[in-house]
Amino acid sequence: MSTASARILDGKAVARSVRDEVRERAERLIARGVRPGLAVVLVGEDPASQVYVRNKDRAAQEAGFEVRTERLPATTGQEQLHAVVDALNADPAVHGILVQLPLPEGLDADAVVARLDPAKDVDGLTPTNVAALVTGREGLVPCTPAGCIELLDRGGVELKGARVVVVGRSMLVGKPFALLALARHATVTICHSRTRDLAGVCRDADVLVAAVGRPELVRGDWVKPGAAVLDVGINRRPEGGLVGDVAFEEARAVAGLITPVPGGVGPMTIAMLIRNTALAAARLHGVAWDELAPAAAQG
Ligand code: NDP
Repeated sequence: MSTASARILDGKAVARSVRDEVRERAERLIARGVRPGLAVVLVGEDPASQVYVRNKDRAAQEAGFEVRTERLPATTGQEQLHAVVDALNADPAVHGILVQLPLPEGLDADAVVARLDPAKDVDGLTPTNVAALVTGREGLVPCTPAGCIELLDRGGVELKGARVVVVGRSMLVGKPFALLALARHATVTICHSRTRDLAGVCRDADVLVAAVGRPELVRGDWVKPGAAVLDVGINRRPEGGLVGDVAFEEARAVAGLITPVPGGVGPMTIAMLIRNTALAAARLHGVAWDELAPAAAQG
C-alpha cells in the first residue's frame, strides 16, 4: 500500500465549532428578546427525510432555537401545502423555513419553494436568493455549498486564483458552490455527465469537489498531487454504510487535504442551516451579525 499523505479535514469537528459559535450568537439574540425560530415542513414518510429532519431539529434545539416541525401526510395537496407555507411566512416567531425535499410525487416542489419568504428561505433555494448569489448581493446561501467553503477556509485552503473543479451541476450543490468559489476569485470549471475527459479535467484541479451521487467515481489518479478534495456524495452501500463519490483511500494517497464520508461535508450542512437560521433571525430584527460575534472572534 502507498503511504497515506493527505490531511483529513474533520467535518464533524468544524461543524461542532460552527454550531458552538452560532449558539453563542443566538444567546446574544435571545438576550435582546429574539429567539431564532426554525420551522421544518415534512410531507410524507420518506425514511431518509425523517432522519435528516430529526437531526436538524436536534441541532436547532441545541442552539437554543424554537423548533417546530409541520408533519403532513403524503396525500397533502398543493394548495394545502401553500397555505402552510403562507402561515409560516406570516408568523413573526418563525425566522427560518425549510421544506424537506424531495416532496412526494404529484407535488410541485419549485412552486412551494418559490412561495417561501426569501428572508426566511434558510435553504437558499428561492429565485430571489439564487439571483442574490449570482449577482453578489446579500441573501441566504444553500447550506451544503456554504459548508464546503467554510471547510476550505478552516482548512487553510486559498481559493483566490486557485483552479477549482466541481463535478455536478445541481441547483442544490454544484452550481451554488461554483458561484461561491467564483466570488472568492477562483477559476472555476463545472463538470457533469456529458463532460469529455472528466479525469483529465479533474487532474487540473487545486480544489476538487465531487457532488455527483456515484459511489467512488473519482479515482486516485484523477487527483492532482497536493490538491484539496471535498467529497459531497452520500451513497448507501448495498451491504450497509455510506460511501462518497471519491475513492477515499486512493485519493488520500495523492491529495493534500481530503474530507471523509461520513464525517466530512455532511455535518457541515446542518451547521450551516443553523447559522442561516440565526442570520435570518438577526436580519429580520435589524441586528447586525457582527454585533453578535463571540468575544474571542472580536479580538
Ligand atoms: P443531483 O443528482 O441533483 O446532481 C448530480 C450531478 O452529477 C448532475 O449534475 C449530473 O450531471 C452529475 N453526474 C451524474 N453522473 C455523472 C458522471 N458519471 N460523471 C459526471 N457527472 C455526473 O445530485 P445532488 O447535487 O443533489 O447531490 C449530489 C450528491 O451529494 C448525492 O450523493 C447526494 O446524496 C449528496 N448530497 C450531500 C449533501 C450533504 O449534506 N453532504 C447534501 C446534498 C446532496 P447532469 O447534470 O449532466 O445530469
